[in-house]
Amino acid sequence: MGWTERQAAMLAEMGLRLWQPPETAHPVAAPDDAPRPLAGRTESAAVAAPQPASPVVRDRAVGVEGMGWDALREAVTACRACKLCEGRRQTVFGVGHPSAHWMVVGEAPGEQEDRQGEPFVGKSGQLLDNMLRAIGLTRTEAEAAQQVYIANTLKCRPPGNRNPEPEELAQCEPFLIRQVELVKPRIILAMGRFAVQSLLRSHEPIGKLRGRVHRYQGVPLIVTYHPAYLLRNLEDKAKAWDDLCLAVHTLRAAAG
Ligand code: URA
Repeated sequence: MGWTERQAAMLAEMGLRLWQPPETAHPVAAPDDAPRPLAGRTESAAVAAPQPASPVVRDRAVGVEGMGWDALREAVTACRACKLCEGRRQTVFGVGHPSAHWMVVGEAPGEQEDRQGEPFVGKSGQLLDNMLRAIGLTRTEAEAAQQVYIANTLKCRPPGNRNPEPEELAQCEPFLIRQVELVKPRIILAMGRFAVQSLLRSHEPIGKLRGRVHRYQGVPLIVTYHPAYLLRNLEDKAKAWDDLCLAVHTLRAAAG
């Protein structure tokens, strides 16, 4: 990958080193389209065992399957499936190109997102935008190859930005599944423990899952740290940059 001066300057400002293509292929994890789990706070904490979907959740999934964008957006706006609906200002559906090559999955709306109705608009969103810009991507209007689609595992803000609870994640999961089906991304970037747990249903901490290519619904998925975590742990920014570069490389390799 050749970096423009602008990209190199931006990366230097972020404390990120320039990436070189790996010499050996990255192992590809076994496909895992199964339902997903949840748990704790730090990025390195081990995750709880996944719970089987309750009959209620299975019924909800049946309702969401097959929805188009408009119906899905309306279903999210009207959703009262868990207690988060009581404290939200508004739901936060997702933004970006409806057929984006890149899909970014985060955790849950924070205060700013709850106010503005858009994912990642707070401080962690600024870092995310900078990281995306460094690899030629944007959330604003552009071609499908450049404009990402950003969604969260939860569409409503947990009060006080507490961790998502298993029942909340389970209730919201059909919406994210349908978003992935509609976007049909070529690569997914799962940011932070809850996105990873939702999508991969893994017990492993992020530090163990990153650095290789996983699959979700057949789509290559790269695990990386959540931007909010990176703001508190600057020393891990370089690893996040490696993760982005792995994603770029994976996408290019898939394109031939
Ligand atoms: N953190 C997330 O995971 N998502 C947001 O939308 C904002 C902060």
